[in-house]
Amino acid sequence: MDDCIFCQIIAGDIPSRTVYEDEHAFAFLDVNPLAPGHTLVIPKGHHETLNDLPADEGSAVFSALHDLVPRVEAAVDADGSTVAFNNGEAAGQEVPHVHAHIVPRFDGDGNGPIHALFDGPGEMADEELDRIADDIAATE
Ligand code: AMP
Ligand code: ZN
Repeated sequence: MDDCIFCQIIAGDIPSRTVYEDEHAFAFLDVNPLAPGHTLVIPKGHHETLNDLPADEGSAVFSALHDLVPRVEAAVDADGSTVAFNNGEAAGQEVPHVHAHIVPRFDGDGNGPIHALFDGPGEMADEELDRIADDIAATE
């Protein structure tokens, strides 16, 4: 995708602080870090969301994450990390090329868990929860 900044980073047309590369995955430091060491892990193929990502490329991204999370944490002496995808515009995804954020976390950094993003729908009826679970389980 010619006009995708992450494809241009992979191609070397836009500079990045690259920290990892294999056949299907690529990782580099976020230019606007939420914490020291904030790293983005992306598939080399251009796919907008996780929903569009072929399984083998998804596996490659997860494998890269598995390798990189401890390395990123060690590099900045972090106590943990938040690892997340903004999946789709509604979730705040700004760059339409799948990317996982590895954001190092530090004891007492004052930033909440992912749960802090949501107020939640309030109490849900058992029947509604059963229906949703059944719908998810029944589709492939
Ligand atoms: P998202 O909101 O999940 O789409 O996140 C996109 C991320 O890409 C943001 O955290 C940006 O700071 C980051 N970003 C945008 N352009 C670049 C770039 N040229 N190099 C590194 N990170 C970038
Ligand atoms: Zn792209």
